[in-house]
Amino acid sequence: MINYSRRNSSVVKVGNLCIGGNNPIRIQSMLNTSTMDTEGSVNQAIDLIKAGSELVRLTTQGEREAKNMALIREELNKRGYNTPLVADVHFNAKVADEAALHVEKVRVNPGNYANSIDEIEQKFVPFLNLCKKHNTAIRLGVNHGSLNKRILEKYGDTPQGMTESCMEFLRICKRENFNNVIISVKASNTRIMVQTVRQMARIMQKEDMNIPLHLGVTEAGDGEDGRIKSAVGIGTLLSDGLGDTIRVSLSESPVAEIPVAQRIVDFISKKSKAPKIEGSDENLYDPEHYSRRETVSVGEFGGNQVPLVLTAEETLLNGVLDCVLSSDNALGEGRLFFANLKSNNNKQPVILTRFYDTSDVETLQIEASIELGPFFIDGLADGIRIVAPNIAPDIVNSLSYGILQATGARMTKTEYISCPSCGRTLFDIESTIAKIKAATSHLKSLKIGIMGCIVNGPGEMADADYGYVGAGVGRISLYRGQQCVEKNIPEDQAVEHLIALIRSDGKWV
Ligand code: SF4
Repeated sequence: MINYSRRNSSVVKVGNLCIGGNNPIRIQSMLNTSTMDTEGSVNQAIDLIKAGSELVRLTTQGEREAKNMALIREELNKRGYNTPLVADVHFNAKVADEAALHVEKVRVNPGNYANSIDEIEQKFVPFLNLCKKHNTAIRLGVNHGSLNKRILEKYGDTPQGMTESCMEFLRICKRENFNNVIISVKASNTRIMVQTVRQMARIMQKEDMNIPLHLGVTEAGDGEDGRIKSAVGIGTLLSDGLGDTIRVSLSESPVAEIPVAQRIVDFISKKSKAPKIEGSDENLYDPEHYSRRETVSVGEFGGNQVPLVLTAEETLLNGVLDCVLSSDNALGEGRLFFANLKSNNNKQPVILTRFYDTSDVETLQIEASIELGPFFIDGLADGIRIVAPNIAPDIVNSLSYGILQATGARMTKTEYISCPSCGRTLFDIESTIAKIKAATSHLKSLKIGIMGCIVNGPGEMADADYGYVGAGVGRISLYRGQQCVEKNIPEDQAVEHLIALIRSDGKWV
């Protein structure tokens, strides 16, 4: 992929909004209010819509929440907002049936909708018929952390397991001639998320389907880390021409997600107009499997050594190549550089250098993550040098290490896998993250999950070393990996217990 070219997807109508085809990449978010709180949900929905959200999703735990969506829809209409609403349904097919009567789109999770193929047929076909009757669109939303038992036993939690989980449902949609469908396959690990969506696009093309794609990195966290991780994952795929609607999941107020999503979309739309570059990167890397480009080591660069962060002033050792990205199509330019090295069998390590003249930190975070992240997602580069004279050096340094961490290329700090919060959340997500970060941010090699509820939390923090999960109001359960080790601790003692747990494993420094 040297030049930008958007995948040719079908158009799905969600209420009055068209998604896919040549329509703009749509931006969406999710409320974190209780869906039973009509007034609170309507107010937050209006805030989101005013900020630029083109769809608004609500958690829909049960039939009473699904029914209350009708009141929320009605009240929004009364106040002049007809932005489509999306019901987010897990575990209960009946809830999806109810929600289909009241809102423009229903998300179901193939991982917990039904387990056996027979059960899927029995529940899903009537649901599709209801959606046809009421003109309701659906999203098949697969998550890395919530694949069903049958899929896990056969494929493990692999990209193949995620695509197969989605395709089982999609093939039924095709057979039933149901076209009002969008799909997503999300993970908090950007590499897995990127590889899976690429695989999904390939398989759909092979089976003659061009269903629109919803993109997102789950549990991306907050602040700088959340922005970098989201921009790396979503931006890599959008740069590949994949994706028709996006949700940036930050553990912050939902409204804070919208400008980040907007910047990502704006940047991609600017890049799509970049002058074409001649050349091909065929066979440069396998888009669905990670492997690091084979290089010789030169000093601390290349070979099996971790990618390095360089400052503008540092000179390179002889034998280390500097790939200075200068055009508007930095990704294509860089891929062509690596393709030429490959065709000449050149194995010297490569540093990417890119100049940015912005003085806005968030712009730099997003643009550098989108442009430089893919090279580390695909294992091509051995170092990163961001030259941004109008931004403080410590911010540029932190961003550079952040890109390496977000792409899985090099871990230099504690990784927090935290949910964006929703109507199920059992504690204040922002202050809790701040408290846990203050206590643990020096534990450089750990991944800590901070999840608002026990229903989806433990599964969704798939590869965390430890988990802090809302178990009830004012109650927290702690996890070591996927195993619950302490249940229902009072919230005011939970961080202390987490520290004690890490200590008892000899991982406290
Ligand atoms: S983990 Fe639970 S609380 Fe957090 S976003 Fe997911 S469903 Fe909502």
